[in-house]
Amino acid sequence: MEKELLLMLPGPVPIPERVRLAMARQAINHRSPEFGAVYADCVRVMKTAFGTANDLFIISGSGTAGMEAAVANIGRDKEIACIVNGKFGERLYKISQRYGKAHEVKSEWGTPVNLEALKAQLEAGAQVVTLVHNETSAGIKNPAEEIGKLCRKHDALFIMDGITSIAGDVVESDKWGVDIAITGSQKCFAAPAGLAMVSVSNRAWERLCKNPPYYLDLAAYRKSAGNKPMETPYTPAVPLFLAMREACLMIEEEGLPARIARHQKMSNAVQSAAKAWGLHLFPKIDKLHAFSSTVTAIEYPVGVKDDEMRGAIKKMGIVIAGGQDHLKGKIFRIGSMGAVSAPEILATLAAVQHALKKCGYTPKGDGVEAAAGVLG
Ligand SMILES: *Cc1c(COP(=O)(O)O)cnc(C)c1O
Repeated sequence: MEKELLLMLPGPVPIPERVRLAMARQAINHRSPEFGAVYADCVRVMKTAFGTANDLFIISGSGTAGMEAAVANIGRDKEIACIVNGKFGERLYKISQRYGKAHEVKSEWGTPVNLEALKAQLEAGAQVVTLVHNETSAGIKNPAEEIGKLCRKHDALFIMDGITSIAGDVVESDKWGVDIAITGSQKCFAAPAGLAMVSVSNRAWERLCKNPPYYLDLAAYRKSAGNKPMETPYTPAVPLFLAMREACLMIEEEGLPARIARHQKMSNAVQSAAKAWGLHLFPKIDKLHAFSSTVTAIEYPVGVKDDEMRGAIKKMGIVIAGGQDHLKGKIFRIGSMGAVSAPEILATLAAVQHALKKCGYTPKGDGVEAAAGVLG
């Protein structure tokens, strides 16, 4: 039998057995009280994770479907300022180019947001701003609250990708002035891939574009969600909703503050291991930015080859992520989101430490010991 691999990726993440079993059942009608109750349970828990009292919908599609829904419903033909300091910021920029007049507010991946350039765009009339809260590709957490304030000041709509922060880190969509917040199922929720969640503010509803897309028409989602029982406009991925409900119940049982604290502790452990090894975290942060508490991006030491190191780790049954695009070979990333706890972190760090040595780098100190100090 092939042993399953431990995925320590920034999505997809391992799915708790309870969540997997929830979808192993006979089909149910998606226009039924039973399905309506499943959808409602999910939305109730998700609103706490989003920090919102706004409308919230679940779309059958990966996180990117949520990103496209946001841009296509409120950004069409608008001036859109897209903050880019990593791969997913760039994705929002590319989506925005398809629908509106997109302006890139760029800084190097993993470096602080260019706030001056953003202010200039807002002064020049940007109507919509896009931001990735936790930029997964670079392991940097961007100052969403600060950017929300700027959007309010200039009366621009604020789209925030919270795909690797929501349900794993503090997110206060309403307090921060987020108009559409987005997340995906296979990241901090520890559910199967294939669902996207979006919250929509009253300001966003007031400024909906005239010609929305068909499948991703948020007004259609609102109308169906208002039915009794609660529904989606088209047939949803029902098994994924069943699994997601279980994942949400687990979040409720753990408690969101405890869940966030656990994520912080796990990433602290990874960060202290990197420090003990004498390696550098990739992001360049200032006082407005922070290291991600759901994914840690670490620079490869000179001479260590990405494919060799991650290959050696995989041989030990564990999968971590490399860098994307121009960061390929330059960084590796350890995801610590979802249901992750001390045993997985310690095993991963032991494997990484061994692989570093095997690939020619002598760690300065014992990273596993440092992490155990944080976790113990
Ligand atoms: C994973 C991720 C996405 C993309 O989600 P998919 O589910 O792969 O479509 C978008 N933004 C961020 C920040 C992510 O981490």
